[in-house]
Amino acid sequence: MRKLSGPEVVLATHNEGKIAELSELLAGRGIVPSVVSSFGLDAPAETADTLQGNARMKAQCAAAGTGLPALSDDSGLEVDALDGAPGVRTAEWAETGTRRDYPMAMEKLRVRLEASGERQPWPARFRCVVCIAWPDGKAETFSGVVEGAIVWPMRGGNGFGFDPVFVPAGERRTFAEMTPDEKSCYSHRARAVQRFAASCLGS
Ligand code: IMP
Repeated sequence: MRKLSGPEVVLATHNEGKIAELSELLAGRGIVPSVVSSFGLDAPAETADTLQGNARMKAQCAAAGTGLPALSDDSGLEVDALDGAPGVRTAEWAETGTRRDYPMAMEKLRVRLEASGERQPWPARFRCVVCIAWPDGKAETFSGVVEGAIVWPMRGGNGFGFDPVFVPAGERRTFAEMTPDEKSCYSHRARAVQRFAASCLGS
């Protein structure tokens, strides 16, 4: 497994929630992160049908465009009563054409879950794949999962995305009711970054 040879890493995401969490998860690991938007690069279209494929594409685009190692994150919510949807299409559930509307996306989730005939809490998981790519095209992926359930109504004001309706297994609070440190004890993203760090940073 190739190690990072220097401290600079570009975060290959435009999602402010992910940037905040990835920055925190990388803190103290000898990395100096920057964000892909500061290089004037737009987000590529997420056309792959797997998290791995999209994560690889985002990291490789950013590494090629900046000349630096780039770390991407592709993640999604899988709900059992919806046969694993929204999955790799999670971000699209919040699209309005001009912006992302998460209260609308969570309401859509509630309507579909109530129509499924199953009662809450609805078993679900968040899955995350992070990809580190180098300017020469080499790329490695690492994944993390957190099991839990969707609950209604939404609770909490922290985090981002679907955090107000997701309770990790063994907890009563939603991710949005936790501090960032508490969320990272469970989160799919923290688990994926831990694997990346163990392989590529030696930490
Ligand atoms: P993508 O990785 O850009 O395809 O977007 C994944 C989508 O999944 C995000 O826009 C959020 O809606 C959702 N998501 C991923 N990770 C989290 C999380 O930690 N909390 C809440 N929602 C998340």
